[in-house]
Amino acid sequence: MIEVEVKVRADHSKIRPVLLEMGASKIGVEEQSDVYFAAPYRDFAKTDEALRIRSLGGHSVLTYKGPKLDKVSKTRVEIETPVDETAVAKIFHSLGFTEAGAVRKKREIFRAGEITVCLDAVEGLGEFLEVELDVEDGKDLESPRIQLFKFLSQFGLNENDSIRTSYLEMILEMRIQNHY
Ligand code: ATP
Ligand code: CA
Ligand code: CA
Repeated sequence: MIEVEVKVRADHSKIRPVLLEMGASKIGVEEQSDVYFAAPYRDFAKTDEALRIRSLGGHSVLTYKGPKLDKVSKTRVEIETPVDETAVAKIFHSLGFTEAGAVRKKREIFRAGEITVCLDAVEGLGEFLEVELDVEDGKDLESPRIQLFKFLSQFGLNENDSIRTSYLEMILEMRIQNHY
């Protein structure tokens, strides 16, 4: 599966009423706790890949993300599977993988037609909006991307607002600036 995704900074109190007015339905709220891993043989920051265990409401999901596929969004291969968090973390540590960092957030999830809309309140970083379309491998990626930017235009947002930096990178940068 390819995730076609656009992330922007956004004030949730301004976005929420517009979302509901346009008929988007709220799917749920998740408290997500993510641990990203670093491989001993490859720098995922350089290769633009990600290996992550996400824990949410009593279960966990292992995710691999491939390098970003364009210059304006966060479109990339994404493979996910349910796992036992403790067992997988032990396996990774045994193989020499280390923890690169953690991201915690509250994610409110809405559905607007085919588009998944996430209002993310990220610990230490603030409020963001992510919109996403999942596309099968091999399918055209341009039209879903255009569809996402068209959707965002309803909130007065455009390509210049798109943030391609990950939450983890933002947290790691902040740590460097604050010397901890
Ligand atoms: P999702 O969209 O899957 O719910 P998310 O919105 O919580 O994830 P994102 O910021 O969209 O988080 O994506 C996670 C990011 O972490 C990826 O873009 C990945 O490239 C980045 N990342 C993973 N490992 C590292 C690392 N070691 N150094 C820097 N960045 C990393
Ligand atoms: Ca996503
Ligand atoms: Ca994302």
